[in-house]
Amino acid sequence: MAATRTIIIAGAGIGGLTAALMLARSGFRVAVLERARELSEVGAGIQLSPNALRPLYELGLGPALEAAAVRPERIEIRKASNARLLATIPLADEIERRHGAPYLVIHRADLQRILYEAACEDPDIRVELGVSFIDAVSHANGITVTADRDFEPIEYRGLGLIGADGVWSRVRRRVIGGPEPVYTQRTAWRATIPAKKMPAGLPRDATGLWLGREAHLVHYPISAGREINIVAVVVDDWQEEDWSAPGDASWLATRFEAWAEAPRELLSLPDRWLKWALCGVDPDFDWSDKATTLLGDAAHAMLPFLAQGGAMAIEDATVLARRLASAKDSVAEVFAAYEAERKPRVVRVVREAAENGRVYHWSGPAALARNMALRHSSPEKLISRYDWLYGWKA
Ligand SMILES: Cc1cc2nc3c(=O)[nH]c(=O)nc-3n(C[C@H](O)[C@H](O)[C@H](O)COP(=O)(O)OP(=O)(O)OC[C@H]3O[C@@H](n4cnc5c(N)ncnc54)[C@H](O)[C@@H]3O)c2cc1C
Repeated sequence: MAATRTIIIAGAGIGGLTAALMLARSGFRVAVLERARELSEVGAGIQLSPNALRPLYELGLGPALEAAAVRPERIEIRKASNARLLATIPLADEIERRHGAPYLVIHRADLQRILYEAACEDPDIRVELGVSFIDAVSHANGITVTADRDFEPIEYRGLGLIGADGVWSRVRRRVIGGPEPVYTQRTAWRATIPAKKMPAGLPRDATGLWLGREAHLVHYPISAGREINIVAVVVDDWQEEDWSAPGDASWLATRFEAWAEAPRELLSLPDRWLKWALCGVDPDFDWSDKATTLLGDAAHAMLPFLAQGGAMAIEDATVLARRLASAKDSVAEVFAAYEAERKPRVVRVVREAAENGRVYHWSGPAALARNMALRHSSPEKLISRYDWLYGWKA
């Protein structure tokens, strides 16, 4: 690949693949280095809000996404101990009318497949699997990246390097000198079940959010409605740098024993659980250095309580590609301007996600006040709270 119009991306996750597609549409050639030998996402779902979907629709991925995803009708918020409905937020038609794009829930493997297939079809993108980013050196004409394939060093030259290599980003730690991730004392347990096994009284066409003491539960349909994705979040001090450690169902059952029958039944159904110690990266550091910048979790891994980590990676990728496409300045200046544009929004999202984490887990008088406020909020009030977030356009 010629170095002059080539951008190198470390990481073929949601952020890296979206950036590759956006850059290729803007006339760049892209080399995506991915350390995994094959792309296989864990068996779990992801919610895609309108701000995340608008750029993906612009890439022409709408039909493929809609075929694999579900448009949930609404979000039902319930009290964990007695299953009382606290609030309903309309989603399907209402969110599309409001923001011009839907709210979809999809299996991660489907999302990754759709992005990867689109990248493979683009002659200007090369996705190199089994290649680990090692280091990079900036020079007058761009950047030289060293990577490793089967213990053999390989060199790539390009105009710039984008670190889209996730929460444990080597680009952030090695090239930028950015911070280490911080454990948040929260663990997410994830599983899927066939939709036909959903306990009576729980919706198959909507997202459920259950609020309990030091724990909450989310479930929603994925795989065109064939499966239900379940995420149980608990306060916990378990720590491991792994996306998919197996979880012990009996431990989870004990942790949720004070909950109402329906969610307890739901939690008893999966054959296997995977658990994930939630980590964050405080975005308040310099994401860019010369011809290198970061996007997605590498720059700002956040708690998932606003369902926005992937969405922010997609927004980052969109802004970065547009700025590079219209650049008259050096790559370093473009990267600095991208960072300045993205940081205030990302900082707000990180803060609001952490705040949701606190509010969801309240108990005692604070929980009573929260539940009362939810019961007395109109659907319009609840949905308009997120206009600033979902209404984003590049
Ligand atoms: C429980 C949970 C629920 C969530 N729910 C949602 C949700 O509903 N909606 C939402 O928008 N977000 C959600 N998120 C957040 C979302 O999953 C992440 O923000 C998103 O996956 C980040 O994408 P990324 O591309 O930045 O990083 P990643 O997806 O982590 O991708 C990084 C890639 O880089 C590769 N890599 C790492 N190191 C190297 C190296 N040295 N060389 C080459 N390749 C490398 C990795 O193998 C990986 O493929 C959730 C997160 C969790 C934990």
